[in-house]
Amino acid sequence: MLKKCSCGQPMDIRLRTVIYSKHVEIDNVPIYTCSKCFHTEILTGVKADLALLISKLGSQPQIQKINFNELNEWAFLIAKASDLELVHIPIQSIVGERIDQLLDLLLLSRSLNDVNWENDLVGRLTQLTRPVLMN
Ligand SMILES: [Zn+2]
Repeated sequence: MLKKCSCGQPMDIRLRTVIYSKHVEIDNVPIYTCSKCFHTEILTGVKADLALLISKLGSQPQIQKINFNELNEWAFLIAKASDLELVHIPIQSIVGERIDQLLDLLLLSRSLNDVNWENDLVGRLTQLTRPVLMN
Protein backbone atom coordinates (compact mmCIF):
# COMPACT_ATOMS: atom_id res chain seq x y z
CA MET A 1 0.00 0.00 0.00
CA LEU A 2 2.98 2.27 0.34
CA LYS A 3 3.70 4.62 -2.48
CA LYS A 4 6.51 7.09 -2.94
CA CYS A 5 5.89 10.61 -4.14
CA SER A 6 7.87 11.90 -7.11
CA CYS A 7 9.70 14.13 -4.60
CA GLY A 8 10.97 10.99 -2.80
CA GLN A 9 8.79 11.25 0.32
CA PRO A 10 6.65 8.17 1.21
CA MET A 11 2.98 9.10 0.78
CA ASP A 12 0.28 8.62 3.42
CA ILE A 13 -3.25 7.47 2.66
CA ARG A 14 -5.79 9.98 3.95
CA LEU A 15 -9.54 10.04 3.69
CA ARG A 16 -10.44 13.28 1.99
CA THR A 17 -13.56 15.02 0.82
CA VAL A 18 -13.85 15.46 -2.93
CA ILE A 19 -16.15 18.17 -4.26
CA TYR A 20 -17.61 17.37 -7.66
CA SER A 21 -19.14 20.04 -9.88
CA LYS A 22 -19.43 22.39 -6.85
CA HIS A 23 -22.61 20.54 -5.82
CA VAL A 24 -21.66 17.10 -4.65
CA GLU A 25 -19.58 16.46 -1.58
CA ILE A 26 -18.03 13.00 -1.66
CA ASP A 27 -16.68 12.11 1.77
CA ASN A 28 -14.08 9.52 2.75
CA VAL A 29 -12.28 9.15 -0.56
CA PRO A 30 -8.90 7.48 0.06
CA ILE A 31 -6.19 9.66 -1.42
CA TYR A 32 -2.42 9.38 -1.29
CA THR A 33 -1.03 12.56 0.18
CA CYS A 34 2.57 13.74 0.35
CA SER A 35 3.30 15.63 3.56
CA LYS A 36 6.33 17.32 1.99
CA CYS A 37 5.12 18.77 -1.31
CA PHE A 38 1.33 18.22 -0.80
CA HIS A 39 1.00 16.26 -4.03
CA THR A 40 -2.15 14.10 -3.99
CA GLU A 41 -3.19 11.05 -5.96
CA ILE A 42 -6.35 8.94 -5.87
CA LEU A 43 -5.77 5.26 -5.05
CA THR A 44 -5.79 3.03 -8.13
CA GLY A 45 -8.49 0.71 -6.74
CA VAL A 46 -10.71 3.66 -5.99
CA LYS A 47 -10.41 5.57 -9.26
CA ALA A 48 -12.73 3.29 -11.28
CA ASP A 49 -15.53 3.45 -8.68
CA LEU A 50 -15.15 7.20 -8.30
CA ALA A 51 -15.31 7.60 -12.10
CA LEU A 52 -18.43 5.43 -12.19
CA LEU A 53 -20.07 7.47 -9.43
CA ILE A 54 -19.30 10.72 -11.23
CA SER A 55 -20.65 9.41 -14.53
CA LYS A 56 -23.89 8.42 -12.74
CA LEU A 57 -24.18 11.90 -11.22
CA GLY A 58 -23.94 13.46 -14.66
CA SER A 59 -22.81 16.96 -15.52
CA GLN A 60 -25.50 18.85 -13.56
CA PRO A 61 -25.88 17.03 -10.27
CA GLN A 62 -28.15 18.11 -7.43
CA ILE A 63 -26.65 19.32 -4.18
CA GLN A 64 -25.90 16.23 -2.16
CA LYS A 65 -23.49 14.51 0.13
CA ILE A 66 -22.21 11.01 -0.53
CA ASN A 67 -20.31 8.70 1.79
CA PHE A 68 -17.83 7.04 -0.52
CA ASN A 69 -17.04 4.42 2.14
CA GLU A 70 -20.55 3.03 1.60
CA LEU A 71 -19.80 2.46 -2.09
CA ASN A 72 -16.20 1.34 -2.17
CA GLU A 73 -14.78 -1.45 -0.04
CA TRP A 74 -11.29 0.09 0.13
CA ALA A 75 -12.71 3.35 1.40
CA PHE A 76 -14.77 1.37 3.91
CA LEU A 77 -11.76 -0.58 5.18
CA ILE A 78 -9.42 2.40 5.29
CA ALA A 79 -12.05 4.32 7.24
CA LYS A 80 -12.31 1.31 9.54
CA ALA A 81 -8.53 0.99 9.92
CA SER A 82 -8.31 4.70 10.76
CA ASP A 83 -10.75 4.16 13.59
CA LEU A 84 -8.77 4.83 16.76
CA GLU A 85 -9.69 1.55 18.40
CA LEU A 86 -8.52 -0.43 15.39
CA VAL A 87 -5.47 1.59 14.52
CA HIS A 88 -3.10 -1.06 15.94
CA ILE A 89 -4.57 -3.85 13.77
CA PRO A 90 -2.76 -4.28 10.44
CA ILE A 91 -4.93 -3.51 7.39
CA GLN A 92 -4.26 -7.02 6.02
CA SER A 93 -6.11 -8.67 8.90
CA ILE A 94 -8.97 -6.17 8.64
CA VAL A 95 -9.19 -7.00 4.92
CA GLY A 96 -9.08 -10.75 5.60
CA GLU A 97 -11.81 -10.45 8.22
CA ARG A 98 -13.98 -8.40 5.86
CA ILE A 99 -13.57 -10.97 3.06
CA ASP A 100 -14.69 -13.74 5.46
CA GLN A 101 -17.67 -11.64 6.51
CA LEU A 102 -18.65 -10.95 2.89
CA LEU A 103 -18.35 -14.64 2.00
CA ASP A 104 -20.65 -15.55 4.91
CA LEU A 105 -23.17 -12.95 3.75
CA LEU A 106 -22.86 -14.28 0.20
CA LEU A 107 -23.83 -17.78 1.36
CA LEU A 108 -26.75 -16.28 3.25
CA SER A 109 -27.94 -14.20 0.27
CA ARG A 110 -27.80 -17.33 -1.91
CA SER A 111 -29.80 -19.38 0.56
CA LEU A 112 -32.40 -16.59 0.60
CA ASN A 113 -32.36 -16.36 -3.21
CA ASP A 114 -31.81 -12.62 -2.89
CA VAL A 115 -30.18 -11.90 -6.26
CA ASN A 116 -29.77 -8.15 -5.79
CA TRP A 117 -28.02 -8.62 -2.49
CA GLU A 118 -25.87 -11.39 -3.94
CA ASN A 119 -24.79 -9.15 -6.86
CA ASP A 120 -23.95 -6.34 -4.47
CA LEU A 121 -21.81 -8.69 -2.36
CA VAL A 122 -20.04 -10.12 -5.41
CA GLY A 123 -19.24 -6.54 -6.48
CA ARG A 124 -17.81 -5.77 -3.05
CA LEU A 125 -15.70 -8.93 -3.05
CA THR A 126 -14.42 -8.09 -6.53
CA GLN A 127 -13.32 -4.66 -5.30
CA LEU A 128 -11.29 -6.26 -2.53
CA THR A 129 -9.73 -9.06 -4.49
CA ARG A 130 -8.61 -6.80 -7.34
CA PRO A 131 -4.85 -6.38 -6.79
CA VAL A 132 -4.93 -2.64 -6.52
CA LEU A 133 -2.88 -1.51 -3.57
CA MET A 134 0.29 -3.31 -4.52
CA ASN A 135 1.87 -0.56 -6.63
ZN1 LIG B 1 5.99 14.93 -2.56
